[in-house]
Amino acid sequence: MADSQADRPPDRMAFLTTARQPRERRDPRERLGDRREVYRPGALLPIIGSQAARCMDCGLPFCHRACPLGNLVPDWNTLVSHGDWGSAAARLLATNNFPEFTGRLCPAPCESACVLAIDGEAVTIKNVELAIADQAWERGFDRPQPPERLTGFRVAVVGSGPAGLAAAQQLTRAGHTTTVYERADRIGGLLRYGIPPFRLEKHRLDRRIDQMREEGTRFRTGVAVGGHDLPADLLRGRHDALVVAVGATACRELDVPGRRMPGVHQAMTYLTLANRVDEGDLPASPLSAEGRRVVIVGGGDTAADCLGTALRQRAAAVTQLDINPRPPAGRAAAQPWPVHPKVYRVTTSHEEAGGEEAEPRVFSATTVGFEAGADGRLAGVRFAEAEPGDRRPRPGTARTLPAELALLALGFSGAGFSGRRRSHGLAAQLGLAVDGHGNLARGGDFAAAASGAPGGPADGVFVAGDAGRGQSLIVWAIAEGRAAAAAVDRYLRGATELPAPIAPFDGPLTA
Ligand SMILES: Cc1cc2nc3c(=O)[nH]c(=O)nc-3n(C[C@H](O)[C@H](O)[C@H](O)COP(=O)(O)OP(=O)(O)OC[C@H]3O[C@@H](n4cnc5c(N)ncnc54)[C@H](O)[C@@H]3O)c2cc1C
Ligand code: SF4
Repeated sequence: MADSQADRPPDRMAFLTTARQPRERRDPRERLGDRREVYRPGALLPIIGSQAARCMDCGLPFCHRACPLGNLVPDWNTLVSHGDWGSAAARLLATNNFPEFTGRLCPAPCESACVLAIDGEAVTIKNVELAIADQAWERGFDRPQPPERLTGFRVAVVGSGPAGLAAAQQLTRAGHTTTVYERADRIGGLLRYGIPPFRLEKHRLDRRIDQMREEGTRFRTGVAVGGHDLPADLLRGRHDALVVAVGATACRELDVPGRRMPGVHQAMTYLTLANRVDEGDLPASPLSAEGRRVVIVGGGDTAADCLGTALRQRAAAVTQLDINPRPPAGRAAAQPWPVHPKVYRVTTSHEEAGGEEAEPRVFSATTVGFEAGADGRLAGVRFAEAEPGDRRPRPGTARTLPAELALLALGFSGAGFSGRRRSHGLAAQLGLAVDGHGNLARGGDFAAAASGAPGGPADGVFVAGDAGRGQSLIVWAIAEGRAAAAAVDRYLRGATELPAPIAPFDGPLTA
C-alpha cells in the first residue's frame, strides 16, 4: 500500500533537477559523547522519496550487477519514489536477508557503478536500501517466515557471522532443521565484537536473531567446533550437512623490534574489549585509550573503527600510520567507471578527528619499531616514509611519535588454517583442504575440498563467507551464505529453488 503523501507520479527527469542529498549525521562533538549510531534519527525518511526518484531506471542497471547480492536497485528506487514501502520491502528482502546491516555498513560498490556516477553524483542507493529495511521492520513487512513443512534433514552451521546467519536463515526457511554453533558467547561474528555500535547498534542484530529463532533456527553459543567442546567429525556425523562459516580473523602481524612490549596490541583485541563494555560484560575496558597518546598502524575499516573508539575513550592524541600513499580525490585512470575505486575518503571517525583539516592519517608511513620507556612499556612508535613501490623505509626519514598505546590494524592473513595453526582441529577432523592463504579450499558449488589426508571425508561439508573467500565484506558474506544454502539444499534434495547470487570465485567488477 502506497503512502498518500508520497503517492505521486515519479518525476522521470528528477536526476536533472534534484541534487544528491546524503543522510544527515549528528554533530561530531555530540557523537563523541556516546557510542550510538552517528546518523541523525529520522532524518532520512523525509528526503528519501525524492532521492530514490533520481534513479534513471536504466535498461542495463550496472548497480544491480555491482551488488554481490544482485539487489534489484532500480525496482525499489521506483517503488520508494511512489511511496510503496510494502512492495519495495518485498523486492529487497527477496535478495538480501539483512539489509539493515548492508544499508548501514556496505561500502556501496553499487553507487560507484551507478550510471549517474559516470559524470555526476550517484543515486544514494545505500540510503534507499536502509530506509526500506527500517520501514520494513517498523511497518511489519519483515516478518518471520517459518517453513510450511520440515524436510527431516538436519544441518549444522559453524560460525554466526553474516555468512553463517544468512545460510542458516535460508536453510531454516527451506524446511531444514538448522542449528548454528558459535565459539563466542554471543551470536553475530564481527558484527557483534568487531564493528562498534556507533556504526551498528547491537539491538538491530538481536532483533534479527530473535526473528531467526522464531522461524526455527537454533543457536548454541560457547561451542568451539573442532576443539575439546565438540569434535567437527562428531558434529558432521550428527547432521545431514554442515556449513563452515568461521570467518577469516587471523590477524596480520608486524614483525618489527618491540612488537611484544606492553602497550602494543592487535586492533581486534582492543575493539572486542570496547564492545564488551557496551554489552555490559565489563565496567571499563582494560585497554582504554583514555588519556593516552595512541598510534594506529593500518588504513582500513578496522583502523577507522579504532580511531572512532579511541576518540570516544578520550585519548590524548591519535595518529594513524597508513603505509599506502594518500589516494586521489577522484577516480584514477586505472579504475574507470563502473569499478569501485580507491579514492580519498573521510570516514565518520576521521570526521570526528577533525576532518581533512586535522587529518590524523600520515600516508606513505611504514612502521619500523616500537620504543620502550624506562618502565619497559611502550613510549614511542618509530616510522619512516615508505618508498613508492616496495614500501621499504626511505633512509634518513625515520622519526618517533610518542605513544602509550599502539594498535595493529593490518588486516587479516586468512582463516588461520595454515602456518602455526595448521593443526586447527576443525579442518583436520573433517579432512578439509586449505588454500595458499590459509582459507578453506572449495569447489564451484561451495563444497569443501577434501585434503586427501586421513581425518574424514569432506562430503556434505560446505564453506561460506570469509573462511573460504578471505577477509571481505558483509555483502559478500551474505551472498556467500545464501549461495551455500542453495548448494546444501541441492545436495540434500537433489534440486533447489533457493537463489544463489554468486559463485565462490566471483569477485568485484574490475577494469
Ligand atoms: C573492525 C572491522 C570492521 C569492519 N567493517 C566492515 C564494514 O564497515 N563493512 C563491511 O562490509 N565489512 C566490514 N568488515 C568485514 C566484515 O565484518 C566481514 O567480512 C564479515 O563479518 C565476514 O563474515 P563471516 O560470517 O564470513 O565471518 P565472521 O563475521 O568473522 O564470523 C565468523 C564466526 O565464526 C566463529 N567461529 C570461528 N571458529 C569457530 C569454531 N571453531 N567453532 C564455532 N564458531 C567459530 C567466530 O567466533 C565468528 O563469530 C569489518 C571487519 C572488521 C574486523
Ligand atoms: S548491499 Fe551494498 S552493493 Fe548491494 S545495493 Fe546495498 S549498498 Fe549497494
